Amino acid sequence: MIKLNNVQKIYDNNKQRVTALKNINLEIKSGEIYGIIGYSGAGKSTLIRLINMLENPTAGEIWVNGQRMDRLNNEKLRLARQKIGMIFQNFNLLSSRTVRQNIAFPLEIAGYPKEKIDKRVSELIKLVGLTERADAYPSELSGGQKQRVGIARALANNPEVLLSDEATSALDPKTTESILNLLWEINRKFGITIILITHEMHVIKKICHRVAVIDGGEIVEEGPVTEVFGNP
Ligand code: ADP
Ligand code: ADP
Repeated sequence: MIKLNNVQKIYDNNKQRVTALKNINLEIKSGEIYGIIGYSGAGKSTLIRLINMLENPTAGEIWVNGQRMDRLNNEKLRLARQKIGMIFQNFNLLSSRTVRQNIAFPLEIAGYPKEKIDKRVSELIKLVGLTERADAYPSELSGGQKQRVGIARALANNPEVLLSDEATSALDPKTTESILNLLWEINRKFGITIILITHEMHVIKKICHRVAVIDGGEIVEEGPVTEVFGNP
């Protein structure tokens, strides 16, 4: 359902050219939790940002659910992106908005009526376990709670795919564990495909079905986690 064919990415900022991805071929199945692991600078963020076209590929094809993402016009891309949620290491919450208002944000942009938004937001708040904190501001929340808001916001439009860019890297081990459990539950309950990048092996071992190891802009190993890293 997600397919990258011969994808190359070169950043060209008149001063310097950086080859971030060389020749990426990757296929991720519907409903999978797919991990991408590698050192800093390996190309992980670039790879994940190509899937929702936050970056354009220099060459190659990017397919998501039968649509060629790098060929969509702006309107079609906007709609396709609603089906791809994303969560971040530093949460990217709006500090002037409460939990409820942060989660409502993508639904407001999508143009749903207020009653529908209120209902959906309440469901999401319950799903991520923040009912007691619904009217708090981000500055009043712990890191784990902030990431729960990030997850709820990413799920607001019922995405088919969730992209996770080092979502647990800023969290302590116990909070990491609880966020990974939540992602696992979301994958199981809703069948959402999750693609997560991390530099931490234990994250991959805990929840991923398959993994790609990326180094210097290339996939150097790929397969089921147990085959690539052996049993725990
Ligand atoms: P990480 O290694 O955690 O991905 P980086 O510090 O490499 O974080 O990148 C942080 C941000 O800066 C990203 O949005 C990335 O696209 C951008 N970035 C990274 N390297 C460069 C660069 N050489 N020139 C311009 N922007 C860059
Ligand atoms: P990772 O996520 O694995 O840390 P990135 O995809 O952020 O790797 O970066 C891969 C390479 O591309 C690095 O050399 C980084 O400096 C470079 N890079 C990332 N973003 C940019 C950018 N916006 N402009 C120029 N170079 C970038």
